[in-house]
Amino acid sequence: MSQDQIPEVDALFSPFFLGAYGENDELFEKLILEFFRDHVYWRRNLHPQDTPPIPIRALHSEGYLEFVDRMKTELHRLTADLKNSAPFFNPRYIGHMASDLLLPGLIAHLVTTLYNPNNVTEEAAPVTVRLELAAGRQLADMMGFNTDPAQRPCAWGHLTSGGTVANYEGLWNLRSAKYYPLAARTVMAELGLDPAAIIRKPLSLEDPDPWPWFNLDVDTVVRLQKAVAEALQGLPKQTRQRVTRKLESARVEHLGQADFHAAHPDLKPPVVLVPLTAHYSWKKAMKMMGFGSAQLISVPVTDHMRLDPKALEAELARLAEEGRPVLAVVGILGSTEYGTIDPIDDIVAIRQRLRRKAPALDFGIHVDAAWGGYMAALFREPGGGLRRREDVARGFKYFPSLEVHQAFAAIRHADTVTVDPHKLGYLPFGVGAFIARNREITTLLGEDAAYVFDEAGEGADTDTLLRNLGRYILEGSKPGSMAAATYVTHRVFPLDYKRFGKLTEVTVHSTEYLYDRLQETAERLASKVRLVVPFEPDTNLICIALNPEGNHSAPALNRFGKRIYEQLRVVPDQPPQMREFFGSRTNVFHDSLSPEARQVLTEKLGLDPDSFQSEGDGENSSNFIFLLRHTLMNPWLFSASEGLNYLDRYCRHLEALVLKELEAL
Ligand SMILES: *Cc1c(COP(=O)(O)O)cnc(C)c1O
Repeated sequence: MSQDQIPEVDALFSPFFLGAYGENDELFEKLILEFFRDHVYWRRNLHPQDTPPIPIRALHSEGYLEFVDRMKTELHRLTADLKNSAPFFNPRYIGHMASDLLLPGLIAHLVTTLYNPNNVTEEAAPVTVRLELAAGRQLADMMGFNTDPAQRPCAWGHLTSGGTVANYEGLWNLRSAKYYPLAARTVMAELGLDPAAIIRKPLSLEDPDPWPWFNLDVDTVVRLQKAVAEALQGLPKQTRQRVTRKLESARVEHLGQADFHAAHPDLKPPVVLVPLTAHYSWKKAMKMMGFGSAQLISVPVTDHMRLDPKALEAELARLAEEGRPVLAVVGILGSTEYGTIDPIDDIVAIRQRLRRKAPALDFGIHVDAAWGGYMAALFREPGGGLRRREDVARGFKYFPSLEVHQAFAAIRHADTVTVDPHKLGYLPFGVGAFIARNREITTLLGEDAAYVFDEAGEGADTDTLLRNLGRYILEGSKPGSMAAATYVTHRVFPLDYKRFGKLTEVTVHSTEYLYDRLQETAERLASKVRLVVPFEPDTNLICIALNPEGNHSAPALNRFGKRIYEQLRVVPDQPPQMREFFGSRTNVFHDSLSPEARQVLTEKLGLDPDSFQSEGDGENSSNFIFLLRHTLMNPWLFSASEGLNYLDRYCRHLEALVLKELEAL
């Protein structure tokens, strides 16, 4: 991309953020003051006839002044320390997944905190629970799910504290769906239900084999749950209570993993499959749910660091052969370390094939789009339709590859999705989101699932039930301010390519631009250092490997890379002013690559394959390769001074660092 093709972001984006220089300080101050005053009027107008409970006189007392003194001292101390924070807002920060915050969200967050709503339930948050569910719908729409309750399945979404909890919730939901049918089987005869009619498969209650019951898709499980609930409704009260208790006591949520599997000795413990690039929250999730991290199977990735669909299919075939059930397959949309996009479409197609085989193997699909989820806006028409690849590609040099377009197009077939508004949504930390394609899955969650009918009465619709949010999610009390921030941001920037997509568009432009400039930097350094971008970026994250010319050993490459990184990293207790630019780091592990991918990588880097080993012994070999990692989220990276934009300047800075370190070698 030449300089004149750089997108015109300045005019369009200028009011969006507080700005690296605090350019919008007056706007921010004016709005905060206005809405703060508005809030105070609201307080005063609740019962204006009451006298103020804090006596006016107290404002002048000794104790009052002393308290103010102490408070201010501590606040000064805090903000003095905070000056050593990572300067996410500045275009010189190209490290982790953080940038400046969108003003609508930031202000909505701060202002709503004054009202302090608790989104655990509508009673504690009469306004913001609805905003949370609306924000969930906005995100579900962006992913291509149906959100019209008149059509089934209808999706829903809600906010979490972050992507980690949304991932836990994905597993928690899918466990409920997978394990429910075996519990339902224990009461179906009493309810007079014929499994073949409901499940639409040749299933019989006499056949003890648990496999077909565990290998049902989410929509079928929901249908089964509905049939059971309706049959229960038709029973006299006492029988209904007895059968409900029997059903509930047969469920995994009641028994726990150990006793459930003891009750079904022919059912092996299920596994979860993730690509080797998976976020570590998946391992934590397996430990926390009691499945155990040994049941998490890592599938190799290609030399693009994308899940290898052939390896996935082979692994699934092996598991089916072994009679090992699969709870879920996780695909990643924007891997945390490399920004790469897994072939969600292939995962969906593989599931289709395995469903049709006899015996069928079925599993939930969770898309972990914590990082890349908001890029879906680039693929959405304002009316909600999916944009064609040619249309998305207009204006980009490389993006989106066919694979990336197909992956985004296939999200709507997934069962559950994680997306993080506090990453590419440019919102303050503390807000992730969980989305389910079929919101009726919530009827399976929580211990009171089977009683929902009783309590709410026949008339209660799902919308009303879900406002009792705390019953259907992992968290309890939670800030309504995050819901307000997310909702307002999506209203100001609807999640399509013309509005929110403009922001993601510029991040991809930055990435393509830096990618090309790095090739030039590599040419300039060619006789001295081999600079390699080992994986073509799928999104807006770029990794760089640096190998001094003549070196063939992975440990030496790693030492060199770390010395460069030392001068780009945020150091606790060190003022950020001491740095020119900020970057982050990552490793590629030997064991995360297929042998072919390993060979491609060592060749690109000019490494002796023997120095890159599974069990690196430190001196002569290493089990990883060190990379610099840059996230290009800041929309002002193209802003120039003296003819050089931030990305040009970073390349120069990197070149200078490399030359200096070479001399020191
Ligand atoms: C960031 C990230 C997570 C974890 O999200 P948090 O918001 O940090 O809890 C999970 N998966 C992926 C792919 C991520 O990038």
